[in-house]
Amino acid sequence: MTGLKDRVVLITGASSGIGEATVRELAAAGAKLFIGARRTERLAALAEELGKGIAWRGLDVTDAASFDAFANAAHAQFGRIDVLVNNAGVMPLSPLAALKRDEWERMINVNIFGVLNGIAAVLPRFVAQKSGHVVNVASVGAHIVLPTAAVYCGTKYAVWAITEGLRQEHDDIRATIISPGVTATELGDDISDPQVAAALKDWRQKSLTPDAIARAIRFALEQPDGVDVNEVIVRPTAAN
Ligand code: NDP
Repeated sequence: MTGLKDRVVLITGASSGIGEATVRELAAAGAKLFIGARRTERLAALAEELGKGIAWRGLDVTDAASFDAFANAAHAQFGRIDVLVNNAGVMPLSPLAALKRDEWERMINVNIFGVLNGIAAVLPRFVAQKSGHVVNVASVGAHIVLPTAAVYCGTKYAVWAITEGLRQEHDDIRATIISPGVTATELGDDISDPQVAAALKDWRQKSLTPDAIARAIRFALEQPDGVDVNEVIVRPTAAN
């Protein structure tokens, strides 16, 4: 299948930032979208604004049962699933010495288990239908480690490895890593260390807008079945 018209795409973390921009981009391309996040009022408003072909459901990606129910509801709504975009993520950065164990756990649960729960929710269907596409949003932090970002980057290195492993294990299923550079979204708004929060504000001086990442996702999805875009790295031109 080529193109996005009427393809059924599931998107996590659709309530803000890159996820929301991806919903807008893929809706414009004619895809049928099933979108999830915890802030359901935002999903409802987005679906209402964009109209037909978009359905939503509350989703906590850290909860396997919630993800299974999300995928089942999408299948019930549209009759098939073609693509999963695992976009949900969190980034409460801090130096390791601050020992913010609860924040480490949250990053590992959302960024790694969230992706694995998503893969588990769609993979049996993709195997049975001998087609499917999993797009995992990693980060430039899947390639470089920055101070205060050890755990966050660790989760994104893991997303990179999991996506590559999925690709190697399946001949009929496409697997794409999208690695954004710094992008102006709500990510990191929950950083609890004031110095780290100020540093992030500085990095954001040179940032992409989320539609740039959405276009990269669309590019990967619009390739013909025999073409698997394995990774797209998108940085702001001004970043060096
Ligand atoms: P946002 O904070 O704007 O969006 C994050 C999304 O993840 C929200 O929709 C949020 O929804 C969702 N989310 C968080 N926790 C959960 C959960 N437990 N269950 C379901 N959804 C959840 O940030 P971005 O748009 O920037 O982030 C999107 C992805 O891009 C992330 O994976 C991030 O790591 C990655 N990325 C971002 C970069 C940037 O500079 N912005 C750079 C590199 C990668 P809700 O709270 O409603 O559940």
